Amino acid sequence: MLDSFFGLFSHDLAIDLGTANTLVLVRGKGIVIREPSCVARQKKTKRILAIGTEAKKMLGKTPGTIEAFRPMRDGVIADFDAVEAMLTFYIKKVHESPGKFSWIPQVPRPRVVIGIPSGVTEVERRAVQEAALAAGARQAYLIEEPMAAAIGAGLPIENPGGSLICDIGGGTTEIAVISLGGIVVSKCLRIAGDEMDETIVSFCRLKYSLLIGEVTAEEVKIQIGSAFSQTNQHEKGDEQTVIRGRDLETGLPKSVKLNGSEIREALSPVLNQITDAISEVVEETPPELVGDLMERGLCLAGGGALLSGIDRLISQETKMPVWRAEDPQTAVVKGCGKVLDNESLLEKVRVTGGLR
Ligand code: ADP
Ligand code: MG
Repeated sequence: MLDSFFGLFSHDLAIDLGTANTLVLVRGKGIVIREPSCVARQKKTKRILAIGTEAKKMLGKTPGTIEAFRPMRDGVIADFDAVEAMLTFYIKKVHESPGKFSWIPQVPRPRVVIGIPSGVTEVERRAVQEAALAAGARQAYLIEEPMAAAIGAGLPIENPGGSLICDIGGGTTEIAVISLGGIVVSKCLRIAGDEMDETIVSFCRLKYSLLIGEVTAEEVKIQIGSAFSQTNQHEKGDEQTVIRGRDLETGLPKSVKLNGSEIREALSPVLNQITDAISEVVEETPPELVGDLMERGLCLAGGGALLSGIDRLISQETKMPVWRAEDPQTAVVKGCGKVLDNESLLEKVRVTGGLR
């Protein structure tokens, strides 16, 4: 009764609390928020100054009194207060827009399904749940990211056949084999998009004595990065870009022209670790399921799936068909959204019991 009362005034939400980006989907409306998981605050007082895009603009540019950072960076909750502030901010923001009863003051007491990295500990899971409740949710359910990504990508996870998903985010790569609604084998690597950026930073330092920041490195990766050398008109070949940074020898600004093939070479060790991890998961998969995997192939999700040629590289290394989920960065939030709509699926896939 109370539940349906609150239901009138609040929108049920699906949230992808990613290491790089936070996405919020409102049930019945679609994705309404898509922003970097970044927070900027006063160092001394811990007062929040900005959240999301505004905070990302400050990364690497703050004076000593302000800190701008990513509270979920490596797939663990590095700063609980900041995560709570982020959740509260987005839950409130969604409820500010006029709903169907805009003449009644809105009571933001939504049900929330949150996708979290599978490497998050029990204590941290509870912390996320508590944060959502503190932010006004009346029920908060957690599901593991690879499960959410598989559901969002439309894989037949409830079938007895195996489905293989690989979600390459900012801080973590999650690989899982799912069958009958449960995770059969999985691996959470702390190597993903951020490591690709870091590799580009060290490549520039070693080869050109050029110091660049991570934000610039990420731009290089997105603009000219690729995983596979064979090119066609849809893939990045030997494109070039000019970047600016500081010359480590003179200490002065310098610009350097980078080309696609050197970035591909620089990225290759990181990509090898990802393909090796996928192979290991396949090796650990019970033989009866391997046949299904060969047939259905590997589905890629997450922002890292957008790297040009990564599907071809993984396919070559694992001898399996590989395909990208539609709009891969939204797979997790879409999966959480589908779970909101389906009570029995929610019961099956949620990690711990909803508090309250
Ligand atoms: P998370 O789930 O950890 O928040 P996302 O799934 O949003 O992460 O993916 C973020 C990562 O994807 C970042 O490292 C970003 O640089 C990378 N990324 C986004 N677009 C591209 C692209 N076109 N090519 C390569 N990497 C990309
Ligand atoms: Mg993610």
